[in-house]
Amino acid sequence: MATNRTFTMIKPDAVQDNHIGGILQMIEEGGFRIVSLKKVQLTAERAGQFYEVHKERPFYGDLVKYMSSGPIVAAILEKDNAVADFRTLIGATNPAQAADGTIRKKYAKSIEANAVHGSDSDDNAQIEGDFYFAADEQF
Ligand code: GDP
Ligand code: MG
Repeated sequence: MATNRTFTMIKPDAVQDNHIGGILQMIEEGGFRIVSLKKVQLTAERAGQFYEVHKERPFYGDLVKYMSSGPIVAAILEKDNAVADFRTLIGATNPAQAADGTIRKKYAKSIEANAVHGSDSDDNAQIEGDFYFAADEQF
């Protein structure tokens, strides 16, 4: 994946609450092109692998349980400066601190059930996109 791409998930609470369309609309209106898209149910094992980087953090067990509690929507997104611009579009991890106009301000319920994931670096965008999508699913 090139450096103009990032990776996102619409998390279980937002999928459950029928916000897939609203969130994808904010993403497209934010100037991102959808490269890859799928709805998928993570097992606890797969969620644990995805968030392995956080395994020493106190909320890891809760996060794995939450992310495997219902289907998510995974997507690779493309835009100039994708990683940083997408972090701006989603807003702060804690929705109480998320800026107006951000996806988390509009849709997040709590610091855990915060509606969307966004990669934090180009390297992780590549790793995370490849976690869900084969090469012939990324165009
Ligand atoms: P992000 O990059 O903004 O998603 O935040 P992090 O990488 O720090 O954390 C990953 C995910 O773990 C967050 O999006 C939340 O779903 C969850 N999380 C982060 N901090 C906390 C916390 O203090 N408590 C709980 N329960 N979950 C958290
Ligand atoms: Mg993160």
